[in-house]
Amino acid sequence: MAELSLSNIVKRFGGFEIIHGANLEVKDGEFVVFVGPSGCGKSTLLRMIAGLEDITSGELQIGGRVVNDVEPADRGIAMVFQSYALYPHLTVEENLSFGLRMNGNPKADTERRVRHVAEILQITELMKRRPKQLSGGQRQRVAIGRAIVREPQVFLFDEPLSNLDAELRVQMRVEISRLHKKLGTTMIYVTHDQTEAMTLADRIVVLRAGNIEQIGAPLDLYDDPANQFVAGFVGSPKMNFLNAVVVETQPGRAVIALESDANTRLTLPVADPIEAGAKVTLGIRPEHFVDAGTGDADLTVTIDVAEHLGNTSYIYATIGPEQLIIERPESRVAGNRDTLTVGLPANRSFLFDGAGKRLR
Ligand code: ATP
Repeated sequence: MAELSLSNIVKRFGGFEIIHGANLEVKDGEFVVFVGPSGCGKSTLLRMIAGLEDITSGELQIGGRVVNDVEPADRGIAMVFQSYALYPHLTVEENLSFGLRMNGNPKADTERRVRHVAEILQITELMKRRPKQLSGGQRQRVAIGRAIVREPQVFLFDEPLSNLDAELRVQMRVEISRLHKKLGTTMIYVTHDQTEAMTLADRIVVLRAGNIEQIGAPLDLYDDPANQFVAGFVGSPKMNFLNAVVVETQPGRAVIALESDANTRLTLPVADPIEAGAKVTLGIRPEHFVDAGTGDADLTVTIDVAEHLGNTSYIYATIGPEQLIIERPESRVAGNRDTLTVGLPANRSFLFDGAGKRLR
């Protein structure tokens, strides 16, 4: 097991800077997930930790040792890829034992470790098969098994579940969580799927365009996002963003009106001074609307589509040119209606300035 430390890690490809000075401390045994949209640099960051990419500048430590110039095989890490990267001509058992055999590990110990891993991952009955005789989920399990037998100090996962169908992805997600509990090993996991991030992580690192936007526990990011980007990235369905304008300011507070419905006004506390007339964005999560008349303002929307899921409903709606999603308990949206009026609670509302900075 090991802690991990990134100080001012920069990556340049040619003259182009991709990672702009990343700082992160990962505790021993922690499960850290890197999330962010395509191209934000999360795989590059992981590959630098693995030693598959050079670090342009900055310092990387694993288990208290600077490893910038240490070969991948000597870093005490094992990596699981999206593509599984299994040897097609070898059986499951041979795939699992391959690395240990190549390192000259004693035969009896290799056999013991392979047996143990097969039990943990419940693939014992597949040992004589070749990868092409396995389902996607089974292949991914073998790929994870191959990482476990090496007994690494740190596991690195690069979007390991993205080739699996939705149901299997959920199942494997739970298995990876169980595995982390069982092994207690430090894990770093890359995904663009915010649900995977929320469910797996002790802490999430949100990346955008080569910068770390926020680091925090999943629910801290959900409750207290640093800016509009993080607010929109964490949570499913996504937070609604509605254009608004500041119509009046009071000490420590601003009265805002929605652009799409000037009658919808909300008074919100703001940390920084803001001028009347400033354009702002109101953020409200689909699950935080309340019954009409019980919030701090009412909002009437036109219903485009209502999805009834039994316990809850998702209302895809518009207000003027803007779209939003409202989640309501099933019982509150019964009947065929064209419009819906809901309450906006000020204490669950976020406010961002034109640059996406959090005002509240
Ligand atoms: P995805 O989810 O699409 O895999 P990502 O967040 O993992 O995205 P990276 O693969 O780390 O993103 O890429 C970050 C940026 O670095 C991208 O703009 C990409 O084009 C660029 N990049 C990655 N590898 C190279 C390379 N070998 N040479 C030049 N540019 C690269």
